[in-house]
Order: sequence, then structure tokens, then C-alpha cells
Amino acid sequence: MLKFENVSKVYDDGFQAVSSVNFEIQEGEFLVIIGPSGSGKSTTMKMINRMIPHTSGTITIDGNDVTKLNAAELRRNIGYVIQHIGLFPHYTIAKNIAIVPELKGWDKEKINDRVHELLKMVGLDPEVYSDRYPKELSGGQQQRVGVARALASNPRVILMDEPFGALDPLTRDQLQGELISLHQKLKKTFVFVTHDMDEALKLGDRIAIMKDGKLLQIDTPEKLLHEP
Ligand code: ADP
Ligand code: ADP
Repeated sequence: MLKFENVSKVYDDGFQAVSSVNFEIQEGEFLVIIGPSGSGKSTTMKMINRMIPHTSGTITIDGNDVTKLNAAELRRNIGYVIQHIGLFPHYTIAKNIAIVPELKGWDKEKINDRVHELLKMVGLDPEVYSDRYPKELSGGQQQRVGVARALASNPRVILMDEPFGALDPLTRDQLQGELISLHQKLKKTFVFVTHDMDEALKLGDRIAIMKDGKLLQIDTPEKLLHEP
């Protein structure tokens, strides 16, 4: 459903962050992009929803060139979770999750039901957390809200850029397990960036290895582990 063909990114200062990357991912696949800091992972992700425009090559979603899709609409149809999720501090948890559905003009009741459902989905009791503010939640709980927010408008693709990078190992381990369950349940396409191989092996249906802006290899964890 998502295809990169010879995609490159040269930033305004002339730096080539991504060089001729090719891959294709299937609907419902969990792809993990791994590589050292500066290898072009975030740039690759952000080109999918056009937060960063690519310089050359073609990115298509279901055969549609992303450059021909309306930018705001594209972003609203692709959920995005980042390390420092930046929940709005002066909005309640419920309001934070409701932002995109409100932009889409859903009616109030539908939004309330959806927020309720999403909080339960990410393991937070709606009765307890809906009316709290982000600073009243732990880092792990805030990240759960970030995932709920990304899922709010029922996007087909969820992009996650080191969402668990700032969490302690135990919380991180727990959220990884929950994310796997969520992926199996929702059957959505997940693209997840990390620089942690254990995390990549645990989560990915396939793992794409990046270095110096190039995609070195893309394979299942089994193949990566068992082939020289
Ligand atoms: P990663 O996510 O793998 O850490 P990034 O995609 O963030 O890598 O960055 C890839 C390279 O592009 C890095 O060397 C980074 O310094 C550079 N880069 C990122 N953003 C910009 C920018 N706006 N202008 C110039 N260079 C950038
Ligand atoms: P536009 O530039 O068309 O106004 P925005 O940049 O406001 O669009 O983004 C539209 C939607 O995409 C927002 O509702 C927001 O949730 C999401 N989005 C955009 N950038 C990010 C980001 N860096 N992190 C998380 N979500 C983002």
C-alpha cells in the first residue's frame, strides 16, 4: 500500500539525508526502520506524510502519488506518534485526543464515544483520565495518550518515531507488548523508527536497516538473524 521508488532528500543546505531509497510495504504490515542517529530514519518517515517534501523519486499510497494529495488531509489520514509527543498542556486528555476528529467536524457524541473507546484501547480508564491534564500523567501514560491521539481519526497508516525512546526499560517493555497486541487487533499499517535492535526484532514483521541515508537491507527478523 506504501511504496518508495528511488526516493532521495537533499536539504536546503545541500546535505543529502536520504539516497535513492526503495521499498514497498503491505497493508497491515508492521515495518520497523532501524539505524544509527543521523542515518535518515526520521526524514524517511516525515516524507511519507509530506511534513518534509522529498527531492526526487516517487512515494505512493495505494498507487496515489503523495505529492498530488492535499497536505493537510494527508496528515490527518496518517497518524503520527513522536518521542516527545507534545500533548497540549492546557487541554485535557480527552480534548487532546479529540483534536483531529474535531477538525474533521465529527459531532460531539461521536467524538466522546471515540475518545472513550481509544482510552480503553490504550489501557487508560476513561473515567479516571479523560478530564486530567498531561502533566498529571506519567511518561508511559502520556505516550499511551499519544498513540490514542494518532489513532483517533482511524487513519490507515500510523507512523511512530522512537515513541518509547524516553521511557524507562520496564514501561518500554510493557508498551512494546501492548503495541504488538494493538497492531494484531487493528490490522493497520505501522511504520516504527528506532535505533534499538532488540526493539526492532520484537516489533517488526520486517526490519529496514538504514545507514548514511541508504537502505541497506529490508527483511524479516528471522532472516536478519539467521543469514550471514
Ligand atoms: P535519524 O532519524 O536517522 O536520526 P534524520 O533523518 O533526522 O536521521 O537526519 C538525517 C541527516 O539529515 C542528519 O545528518 C541530520 O543532521 C540531517 N538533517 C535533518 N534535518 C535537516 C535539515 N532540516 N537541514 C539539514 N540537514 C538536516
Ligand atoms: P497544516 O500544515 O496543513 O496546517 P498541520 O501541520 O497543522 O497541517 O498538521 C495537520 C495534522 O497533522 C495535525 O492535526 C497534527 O495532528 C498532525 N501533525 C503534523 N505535524 C505533526 C507532528 N510533528 N507531530 C505530530 N502530529 C503532527
